[in-house]
Amino acid sequence: MGRFEGGAFRPRRSVELRGVSIPHKKETAQQQTTYMPLPKQIILPMQQHVGVACEPQVKRRAHVDVGTLVGHTEAFMSEDIFSPVSGTVKDVRAIHYSSGKSDMAVVIEPDGEQTVDEAIAPPEVTDYMSLIEAVKHSGIVGLGGAGFPTWLKMDTDLANIDSWLVNGAECEPYLSSDYREMVERPQTILAGIKACLDYSGVPRSLICIEDNKPQAIELLRSMAADDDRIDVFVLPARYPQGASRVILRNVTGRSVPRGGHLTDVGALLFNVTTMSEIGRFLQDGMPLTKRRITVMGDVVERPQNLEVFIGTPIGEILDYCGLTDEPRRVVIGGPMMGSTQVEMDSPIVRQNSGLLAFGESAAVVPQTTACIKCSACIDNCPMRLAPIDIQKAYRRDDVAALDRLMADLCVECGTCSYVCPAKQPLAQSVRLARAYLRAEQRKARGRA
Ligand code: SF4
Ligand code: SF4
Repeated sequence: MGRFEGGAFRPRRSVELRGVSIPHKKETAQQQTTYMPLPKQIILPMQQHVGVACEPQVKRRAHVDVGTLVGHTEAFMSEDIFSPVSGTVKDVRAIHYSSGKSDMAVVIEPDGEQTVDEAIAPPEVTDYMSLIEAVKHSGIVGLGGAGFPTWLKMDTDLANIDSWLVNGAECEPYLSSDYREMVERPQTILAGIKACLDYSGVPRSLICIEDNKPQAIELLRSMAADDDRIDVFVLPARYPQGASRVILRNVTGRSVPRGGHLTDVGALLFNVTTMSEIGRFLQDGMPLTKRRITVMGDVVERPQNLEVFIGTPIGEILDYCGLTDEPRRVVIGGPMMGSTQVEMDSPIVRQNSGLLAFGESAAVVPQTTACIKCSACIDNCPMRLAPIDIQKAYRRDDVAALDRLMADLCVECGTCSYVCPAKQPLAQSVRLARAYLRAEQRKARGRA
């Protein structure tokens, strides 16, 4: 099998310290995962992944069991959706998000029995193609937040791949869901990694963990000691260490070419909970129907890492954890890259790893002042971009300058906004600039 020709793999001894030190606020990290009881209803949107939305496979009043297929499409880029409960389909209807988008959803009322679909059985896997086929029907997507269908990420030309990286950085403040996975279910993480290495023939895997998680580092290192293909790579705790291109550069010294992918430079990168779910699914055959989320924020009465049924409305989760005050801002995901949510009926979907609720502190809108040319946004950008220059170019619709400034490389980490003393809305501007540049480039290609 051929391997990456850009140079032999050598884990780096030191990493470049771009990005920022952010208060971690991971007080839930040392608490054992708790389990939420069945909610009153489950809402399963048909778009819980990057790609084409599924089509509902059940009708109103149908009975479903745990693991029954409820969403599927024959479209290439998608991932099936399964019922996390047994019960009755109450509705198949459109739901609306705070972003203005809407989606079809299957609404299920649990019957409390939790009977399991009789088709559930461990998949038969004999080689890499059958592994991909099994994962294609597992409901597993990138669980760190990306939501990219996992089977599709695996379905790549392996000839060039020499490193299967596992992302356990979890660099966003507050979130400790991946950390709990590493300390509570290291066996399934390693089972997932070993299966992927065995069937793919990729020679090594590195589990990449920030140095503020010593217990996870020690545990995984000792449990992987009997397999010399697997090791732990320790990263400094610095945001956004977990961004894919940042982790790749810091672990392997390689950079993804502009417009390219990690596979172009010999690497695959999977979130650590995603790997664990692959390991578990191969053992019990139950598709992804539950996930752990960190519930925190200054108005959450009982912050915790909570395993919830996918499709549980966020309002029910906040009621379960208790609120000390009316939330002024509710965030799905982490505080740096998450999205604000105003609809309390919206459900947790499979790629969500956090639910944060903030009170008055979040209601204060920072006053924006003029740029003082301190260069902090440039010095700290992990992608070595110049956010203030990109913002200026975007405001004057200068496509050539946006291209020159490589706005498309932004990983939307929010570091530039965080460090700016003038409170300029840099991350938002760069995100818009990136979308604008891509749209203009598509138009130009269409004209060519
Ligand atoms: S420009 Fe993008 S990648 Fe750079 S700091 Fe801002 S949000 Fe992060
Ligand atoms: S960090 Fe803010 S104030 Fe400093 S150069 Fe960038 S935009 Fe200007």
